[in-house]
Amino acid sequence: MAYDYDDQNIFAKILRGEIPNKTVLETEHTLAFADIQPQAPAHVLVIPKGAYVTYDHFCAEASDAEILDFTRAVAKVCEMTGVSSATSEGARFISNAGLHGGQEVPHFHLHILAGRPLGPMLQ
Ligand code: IMP
Repeated sequence: MAYDYDDQNIFAKILRGEIPNKTVLETEHTLAFADIQPQAPAHVLVIPKGAYVTYDHFCAEASDAEILDFTRAVAKVCEMTGVSSATSEGARFISNAGLHGGQEVPHFHLHILAGRPLGPMLQ
């Protein structure tokens, strides 16, 4: 399967240090930063440093090390921001993919939203 990665997307620019971000956590293979237009009191984006377009692309082609690093980074971000479902009222984890998924930035990212009741997922 061929995934077409556009290296001019805004998250690629963040990863290259061309535009600033509010970093929450950086690890070997992963970056987490505040969403510029937060939809909840806590709204963090977690992205792999590798060039993956969507979640399924990441799952298909990322190395075991990248996948492990990413998933552990998600847990760490939840712990750091106090939105772990073990200790808070819960959170929502979303990844939009492609046109029908409403994806705006074509670099795989996981939204972590928390801090208010988020209502039903599908409307
Ligand atoms: P998508 O619709 O799932 O692709 O979400 C893209 C997200 O990226 C949106 O929630 C935007 O607010 C966010 N975003 C766009 N540009 C930036 C930025 O420069 N810094 C942080 N977040 C951004």
